[in-house]
Amino acid sequence: MAESKYFKIPKTNSLVAVSLYMVLGFCALVYGILNIESTLLSKAVLPFAGALFFTFIEYVAHRFLYHSGEDYTNEANWQYTMHGVHHVHPNDKGLLAMPILLALVLAAAFFGLFYLAMNDNAFFFWPGFLMGYAGYLYVHYTIHARKAPSNVFGYLWKHHLLHHHIYDDKAFGVTSPLWDFVFRTMPPKKALHRKARE
Ligand SMILES: [Zn+2]
Ligand SMILES: [Zn+2]
Repeated sequence: MAESKYFKIPKTNSLVAVSLYMVLGFCALVYGILNIESTLLSKAVLPFAGALFFTFIEYVAHRFLYHSGEDYTNEANWQYTMHGVHHVHPNDKGLLAMPILLALVLAAAFFGLFYLAMNDNAFFFWPGFLMGYAGYLYVHYTIHARKAPSNVFGYLWKHHLLHHHIYDDKAFGVTSPLWDFVFRTMPPKKALHRKARE
């Protein structure tokens, strides 16, 4: 049972959310490319910059919002509703993505911020950001739903499962260890190798 102290936490189908944000991001990008005047370089590079910026937000939100406070696994705390519940019920596939309506409101707010910062270039940056979020959801869903592959992507399983089971103050990146590396929250190398042998 996934309940905060105050209400039942709504479940969201990750794959429906992933599909929706991918389609929305793709349509927004096509709209921007066809209707917004800009250089070819902006149209080609800004979507990737948006996706990279999403991975930064993924790290910052996970580390400084969701894991802020004394006890994120305490049902009385808002961090529990947003994230702690996933640590307590890591195998519940309905608790991996935030409710779609909330995500859309946040996505709209981010579009507004990007538009303020970069005007029309937001039409290229934001779709990449949104597709970055879809990519994150898909990676996180796959880590919890499937066994680690034996190829190089298996590293992402090790990294995230160390965050879940051993170091909840490290390994905040899910789609990549990039920002953990930059901000020095990588789990110890020994732990990664130990997990690899298990
Ligand atoms: Zn966490
Ligand atoms: Zn997880």
